[in-house]
Parts: sequence; structure tokens; C-alpha cells
Amino acid sequence: MLTTIFFKATFYTMFINLLMPLILMYDVIIIGSGPAGLTAAIYASRAGLKTLVLEGNQPGGQLMLTSDVENFPGYPAGIHGPKMMEDLSIQAKRFGGQIETAEMIGVDFSKRPFAIKTADKEYSGRTVIIATGASAKWLGLESEKRLQGRGVSGCATCDAPLFKGKTVAVVGGGDSALEEALQLTKFAAKVYILHRRDAFRASKIMQDRVLSHEKIEVVWNSAVEEILGESLVSGIRLKDMKTGKEKTLAVEGMFIAIGHEPNTSLFSGKIELDKKGYAVLHPLMNNGIPVYTTMTSVPGVFAAGDVHDTLYRQAVTAAGFGCMAALDAEKWLEETYG
Ligand code: NAP
Repeated sequence: MLTTIFFKATFYTMFINLLMPLILMYDVIIIGSGPAGLTAAIYASRAGLKTLVLEGNQPGGQLMLTSDVENFPGYPAGIHGPKMMEDLSIQAKRFGGQIETAEMIGVDFSKRPFAIKTADKEYSGRTVIIATGASAKWLGLESEKRLQGRGVSGCATCDAPLFKGKTVAVVGGGDSALEEALQLTKFAAKVYILHRRDAFRASKIMQDRVLSHEKIEVVWNSAVEEILGESLVSGIRLKDMKTGKEKTLAVEGMFIAIGHEPNTSLFSGKIELDKKGYAVLHPLMNNGIPVYTTMTSVPGVFAAGDVHDTLYRQAVTAAGFGCMAALDAEKWLEETYG
């Protein structure tokens, strides 16, 4: 009796092991579920390709941390970032796209089909679209790390309500910093923007809004030397970049919004990355003329969105790159597998 059960269990395990790679075989595996990944999923699944989106620890990408998106075409009154991502996800599933949350631990692009490994599964993809985006950068101060969640935050949308009636600071001079500052004015009594130069990098419309806001004061040419406080943030020590003089500002909250870095650690040594870690795209030559594509250094592996884009970095351009990557993958599948 026991022997029968043992043989049945062994047979069952062998059967599952043989079948699993087929069950988990996809035409397109998309890594990442921001605007690039989900748009790629809409196009790929609608084209009849068996499509899987693997989302990591930040489903929906950076737009999940954005309040109002005012410049995505089609939403004249603007749209809340998380709502837009929810809509994209519903649209991706509508055509049969599958979305799974998984912690990816490795990829193998040295053989076809390509392999994506998670803690407990291995997925096979005839093509892969890397749409892992970028993550917020931190200043790298010891005090910043120690006081994270104790007044130091990387997300005003998430944490602004905690600072009702308080004085806070945002560091950075790009659109993210200015957007965070404006978001914070809804709750805080006063908002400092600390910028290391004497001019913002952000768009003119955001600059106008910030510079005319009564609750916002810009501290130009200032570098954050230390965030002060034992158990909670109580202030910031700043250094004037021109005079070298130091001063202290009393604040209870400190928001870091100094840009992003690409999420490519999983792909280091697997595809070509530039010196900042962004995926490098390879144009195709057509009659001696380079044609822009989303192909990486590995044929059949494509990249879309902030993971390769250092220039535009908008939700709408990420979505556009996602569309291109799906079309490129579809064409490559036809040419390679027929
Ligand atoms: P960003 O444009 O790269 O700006 C980063 C800012 O942080 C810069 O002002 C930079 O200073 C400063 N900075 C960088 N490292 C620093 C450090 N170690 N210490 C102090 N300051 C530092 O990044 P972003 O603001 O995240 O925007 C990224 C992209 O997303 C942009 O294309 C932006 O237009 C877009 N975006 C759009 C919206 C929107 O349209 N609603 C919202 C957010 C972001 P320097 O200027 O001196 O280099």
C-alpha cells in the first residue's frame, strides 16, 4: 500500500515537473507593471500572444506614488496616478493578459526560451520585455537612513497627511520635488524647498505654481549636510554652496525627491547597460539607416520605459515605449518562430 502511494506520488511529481515548463511558457513575459509594462501587455495580449506580466515589489510603478497626473492625453481633468494604473491593469487583463506578483531572483537570457526565476517557479518566455522602471534616489546620509519613517520620507502622496500644520522641507529641484512640495501645502503650515543650485530643473508651469505659493519658501544653493533629531526629525543642517556657511532649519518632516535610478540589478551582465545602469537599446539597420527599436543587446529581449529612457521619462512616453516593445516582440516572434 505504502509502496503504491510512493510510486503514485513520484509519478505525479515527475508529471508535474515535465508539464510545468509548458504551463509556464509564454510568448511574451513582461517584467514590471508601470505604464510601459501594462501598455506592452495590452498590445501583446490583444495581438493574441500568450502574455504574462510579472510585477515586483512596486506594482503599478512610480505612478502609484503620484497624486494627480495632468498631462496624460485623454484625461482633460487629470487623473489620480493609482486610478490610472488600475484602469491600465484592467485593460491588460481584458485581452487575456495574466498579471502575477513575484519576487524575481534571476534571469537566464543565454538560451531560448528565456528563463525568469522566482523563489518557487521558473517561467519560460519566447520573448521578454524589461519594463522595471526606475526607483527614487536617496541622499545617502546616515541620519537620513536612521530617521526614515520618523519624519524622513520619499513619498509626499503617501505621508503628507501626517504633517498637518507642521513645517516640512523637500529636497530637489525637478518636477518631482516641486510636485511633492505642492502636495505638502495641502497639509503642512510651511514648506521649504531645498535646492543645491540657483535654478530649478522642473517645468515652467510647476515653477510658476511653486514660486507664487504663499506656503512655500525656496532655499537656493543649499546642500543638506545632516538631518537632525534623535527619535524624530527636528531640523536640517544646511551648507550654502556659494559661501560654505552652515545654518540650521527647524522642520518636522523631510521629503527626498532628487531623481531616480534604473531598476536593472537583475540584468547586470545579462544585457548591455550604460555606465549609469540604464538598458542600452540597439537600432536595426535598414538600407544603412538606423531604425529605432526597443531591442536590447540580446535579440528577443526588449526594454521599455524609464529602465532605458534618460531623456523623456514621462508616463505617456513610457506607455509609448511599451507599445513599441510589444510590436517589436510580435515582429521578432514571427521572424524567429514563424
Ligand atoms: P530630475 O528631473 O532628475 O531632478 C532631480 C533633482 O534633484 C534635480 O534638481 C537635481 O539637482 C536634484 N538632485 C539630484 N541629486 C541630488 C543630490 N544628491 N543632492 C541634492 N539634489 C540632488 O528628477 P525628477 O524630479 O524625479 O523627475 C524625473 C522625470 O520625471 C523628469 O523628466 C520630470 O519631468 C518627470 N516628472 C514629471 C512630473 C509631471 O509631469 N507631473 C512629475 C514628476 C516627474 P540639479 O538640478 O542640480 O541636477
